[in-house]
Amino acid sequence: MGGSHFQEVPCALCSTPVDLQVDLHADENGKAVHEDCYVKHLTTSPGTISPSNSPTDCQS
Ligand SMILES: [Zn+2]
Repeated sequence: MGGSHFQEVPCALCSTPVDLQVDLHADENGKAVHEDCYVKHLTTSPGTISPSNSPTDCQS
């Protein structure tokens, strides 16, 4: 059995493959993420998500 290939999963934050042997990290949902992405995710406040509502309606 030559299945000694390391597992690769996409980062839940940036979608780039995470090398589980290097970036063994998981967010609060248990998804694999880069440590860098996780820190960035923590430093950005998730409560300040502004909906993309255009205040000006250009309807004619
Ligand atoms: Zn990432």
